Amino acid sequence: MKAKTSKSPQSKKPQAQTRQKAKARQVKSANKHVAKKATKSLPRKAKRVAKKAAEPRATLSKTPRYVYAFGGGRADGNAGMKNLLGGKGANLAEMAGLGLPVPPGFTISTEVCTHFYAHGRRYPTGLREAVERHLAIVEQRLGRRFGDPASPLLVSVRSGARASMPGMMDTVLNLGLNDKTVQGLIAASGNERFAYDAYRRFVQMYGDVVLDLKPQSKTEKDPFEEILERKKHSRGVTLDTELSAQDLRELVAEFKAAIRERKGVEFPEDPYQQLWGAIGAVFGSWMNERAIVYRKLNNIPEDWGTAVSVQSMVFGNMGLDSGTGVAFTRDPASGENVFYGEFLMNAQGEDVVAGIRTPLPISALAQENPRIYQELVKIRHNLERHYRDMMDIEFTIERDRLYMLQCRVGKRTGAAAIRIAVDMVQERLIKPAEALLRVEPDQLNQLLRPTFLAVEKERAVREHRLLARGLNAGPGAATGKIMFHADDAEAAAHRGEAVILVRVETSPEDIRGMAAAEGILTARGGMTSHAALVARQMGKVCVAGCDALVIDYAAGEMRVGTDLVLKQGDALSIDGTTGEVFQGSIPTEPSEVVRVLINRTLSADQAPLYQLYAQLMAWADRERHLRVRANADLPDQCANALAFGAEGVGLCRTEHMFFGEGKIGPMREMILANEVNDRRAALAKLLPLQRTDFEGLFREMAGRPVTIRTIDPPLHEFLPHDAEGQAALAQEMGIPVETVRDRVEALHEFNPMLGFRGCRLGIIYPEITEMQARAIFEAVANVIQSGVAAEPEVMIPLVGHVKELELQTRIVRQTADAVMVEKGVRFKYAVGTMIEIPRGALTADEIGRVAEFFSFGTNDLTQTTLGMSRDDAGRFLIPYVRELEIYQTDPFESLDQRGVGELIRIAVERGRGARPKLKLGICGEHGGDPESVKFCHRVGLNYVSCSPFRVPIARLAAAHAALGAAASGGEKA
Ligand code: ADP
Ligand code: MG
Ligand code: MG
Repeated sequence: MKAKTSKSPQSKKPQAQTRQKAKARQVKSANKHVAKKATKSLPRKAKRVAKKAAEPRATLSKTPRYVYAFGGGRADGNAGMKNLLGGKGANLAEMAGLGLPVPPGFTISTEVCTHFYAHGRRYPTGLREAVERHLAIVEQRLGRRFGDPASPLLVSVRSGARASMPGMMDTVLNLGLNDKTVQGLIAASGNERFAYDAYRRFVQMYGDVVLDLKPQSKTEKDPFEEILERKKHSRGVTLDTELSAQDLRELVAEFKAAIRERKGVEFPEDPYQQLWGAIGAVFGSWMNERAIVYRKLNNIPEDWGTAVSVQSMVFGNMGLDSGTGVAFTRDPASGENVFYGEFLMNAQGEDVVAGIRTPLPISALAQENPRIYQELVKIRHNLERHYRDMMDIEFTIERDRLYMLQCRVGKRTGAAAIRIAVDMVQERLIKPAEALLRVEPDQLNQLLRPTFLAVEKERAVREHRLLARGLNAGPGAATGKIMFHADDAEAAAHRGEAVILVRVETSPEDIRGMAAAEGILTARGGMTSHAALVARQMGKVCVAGCDALVIDYAAGEMRVGTDLVLKQGDALSIDGTTGEVFQGSIPTEPSEVVRVLINRTLSADQAPLYQLYAQLMAWADRERHLRVRANADLPDQCANALAFGAEGVGLCRTEHMFFGEGKIGPMREMILANEVNDRRAALAKLLPLQRTDFEGLFREMAGRPVTIRTIDPPLHEFLPHDAEGQAALAQEMGIPVETVRDRVEALHEFNPMLGFRGCRLGIIYPEITEMQARAIFEAVANVIQSGVAAEPEVMIPLVGHVKELELQTRIVRQTADAVMVEKGVRFKYAVGTMIEIPRGALTADEIGRVAEFFSFGTNDLTQTTLGMSRDDAGRFLIPYVRELEIYQTDPFESLDQRGVGELIRIAVERGRGARPKLKLGICGEHGGDPESVKFCHRVGLNYVSCSPFRVPIARLAAAHAALGAAASGGEKA
């Protein structure tokens, strides 16, 4: 139809002009403050347009603005207005402002959604008029009228929140059709079959989305699909495209009858009634189950609301000179700088993403329609120059003309994120600091993820276990049990089993199951199918569109070829990097980065991904202020930590050493001793063993700071708890088994975290602390004498009262003095404490006078502040976080900044008040959580310490913090 109207919505001139301006802007903005969101600095022209459009209104009335127009080379909004227009609306406006061919329309703002929910699902006054006024503008631009039987304007009603929520909310296409206007569509298109196809799709979408006929469970079938299947069956055809105009016209009537029958309402023929129904349904979809689950999983606040865009329709299903597609300006899996996408000729938008037909790669469009392909390639470059990022686009070709329907910053894998960021610096599109912000710290996890062990994979191939090949939609290797349904996958994962979720195709209902699975395998759908998109976002291994699989949900099995049947629970392995699917399990091997850094089995120059990683990390280290240490107890862990870039040990838990070779025996002797002398005798056996351990640690760390914590857990943890073990121990020691059992019972605590542990042990049994201090200092002296620097920090755990620390510190210092004299070596050392119970934080002014450093033990500090034992919190903490949103995130994963964070602030302030040079760090697991790292930066800690494998994440998060990236939430598009 667009092809028929002589006045095209976009004239050529403004397009060329804006391109030039865009270029000038781009150069300027590249020099601007890099940490700023790219899109914010760009659309000055669009802003000017917005101003112009807003001015006359402002003088007319004071009512707030609810509706923003776009299209025809201009727009009221721009990409910086995501909060108001949603990601989709804002970027449609931006593209229109750039002069790209965007079908004209308008966006109803998220403020209307907020109003809608705040006022019992009612709209603000003035909205109706504003919508009608904007519809009239579109009518004027296109020379067609909404509801006009002769030449009807048709629209789509599209949802779009601030953050992209792929497929979570609903869109209605072809709106405005009824029995009269369909005649106008036939006349305009000269294609009756097309017109009735559009009509029956509309009735179906309207029925599903607006009238709520969409199936809610996995067993239910869509009533319209059933009718369609029956129709095809009665006509003896298999494809929708084989149905005739007459068939489709009958379908329209049958669909309407189904609506009448199931809902007791008539399908509305009035286009305005259709429009308001659809707008209401899009706002309503913000609160549907899928959207709510998705928001929870992605930490999207409920009060953001969605915008609604109403846009004139273009048709990709008008024949073989029409089509539709989705593309990424670079490969979203590898990050390679190639145009990447898929399209289908003679199809409507939904067909590509829904995985109904398997689409063609975008490169095939070069043969199919070279002119359109060239135009698209040009747009690809323009969008990348303009947004200075990898973009994800939707386009439609209507009778040989190209239209842009959506663009947004493209989701990508961790590897792609790094590659694109580093490449774009080389291409001078962005600065290194900006490149850092393009990679989410947690995405680095994906680079450290294992792949299949090469020999094992070869063996699987030899054993003919390579079953099929699909699309390599999400990199990494996964192996686990087959589950066909999301709930089963969730349940199995809950039991601790590794799961591969296998579906014909996934839909938003499956996201929980996808989150629980190690990997996702689908039989249908392309690289941009729901499964592929969501998997990449979650960082899951995914193989999509593996059409060799025939899945039978009802039987709980899948067939590959003629004779192989795999059942639910059978082992399966998928390689998301190559797309291969294997029967049985295949052991995995470490990633490229791990092989270069940790295993040293690969040299850096053979490892392209490692090189990108190293470049990014070098930039991160230049920006960050926080130091990054690792929690490591043994020399080999220290080596790993150093390889990942740790600058010290933030926590060495000495008790882990007691479980090592030859040490548990004397440890148990010490515990079972009744007399101080017996205890000393046992400790004397432990001393040389611990000293050797510490020497190893100091040697590995070569002069970097090492914080060693004195013994912390309650002593019963070192004794056998089963009758057999107790009997064996009794025999070994030549004492009655009752003695052992009684002692275990006496020491046992129901809630070990508040009992006889931490510094309390060393205070009641000072000889333990003395032995440990001696082991540390003798090790220091030995290491120094051998020519290696060493600088220990002795850390006293669980201090709540300054006197506890004073008592322990005295022992440590006396021992240090003694060792220096005995060994004839002087060395530096520090004595400090963990702040992990609230009293310690609150009295930090007193404690700070004695301690030379604080390390926040946020695992225990969270338990003691929240009054929650981590070990039995699961039962209520999951609903607390997921459903009730009492805590936004699990407080044991991401620091509870409001509560625990407040205690940290107090301790920092009071501690530094007492001792301005007080060294401050964190050694709880939060030290590797990006949001918590940012918090540590803000409150002024000197370092964070986390497990060795999270050190790269902490380094990047610390750089983000220094670059002032938004603390939390922010834009996710
Ligand atoms: P989603 O957020 O689920 O991607 P969209 O609003 O983007 O939903 O729309 C769904 C599909 O319909 C997309 O493929 C889109 O390109 C297509 N579409 C939306 N509006 C129009 C339109 N006005 N003309 C043609 N196709 C459209
Ligand atoms: Mg879309
Ligand atoms: Mg602790």
